[in-house]
Amino acid sequence: MKNLWNSIEAKRFRNDILKMRVYSSRLLGENRQLVLHGGGNTSVKLMGKNFFGEEEEFLIVKGSGADLATIEEKDFSKLSLRKLLKLVEFENMDDLDLVFQQNLAMINPDSPSPSIEAILHAMIPYAWVDHTHADAVLTITNTPSGEDLINELYGNRVIKIPYVKPGFKLAREVFKLKKDLDWKKFDGMILLNHGIFTFGET
Ligand code: ZN
Repeated sequence: MKNLWNSIEAKRFRNDILKMRVYSSRLLGENRQLVLHGGGNTSVKLMGKNFFGEEEEFLIVKGSGADLATIEEKDFSKLSLRKLLKLVEFENMDDLDLVFQQNLAMINPDSPSPSIEAILHAMIPYAWVDHTHADAVLTITNTPSGEDLINELYGNRVIKIPYVKPGFKLAREVFKLKKDLDWKKFDGMILLNHGIFTFGET
């Protein structure tokens, strides 16, 4: 697979995190051989000051309904990371409550609502998080021996999560796993029958 990252082009956005996030999100979404319509969702975490002048960590994440192929700056929402991380401490939560609370965590209520998967992005302890419903991963995992094939291909390089419908239950699965996980040991996380998360400091 050809890496579409262009260092010269990317240099133009080095001082603007959101523009860089748009650039790298489009690289994932533009190629129909990599992902189908919609593609998944991407995010980036950054420190900043809130309205009250307090230093806080934010999550900028793709809003629902946008397509990674054509995404623009306005299609991302900025949320309070602290509020998102508190949500996952609940033992159980209705998905409608999750969506409602995620909306309440938005810094600008006029931004698009974040994806129900925003909470997963919040939990991954890296600044840059890419999540795609990648055709290649789905082609392999959507088979009776999908998990074995993933083990054969990636061994211990990826975290594997059995299929759970996206929402609070999936977030909770990842939360429980995360507690004793050394994320540095992994290149990514494969959600069986769903897609892949990759992450990094840059
Ligand atoms: Zn997904």
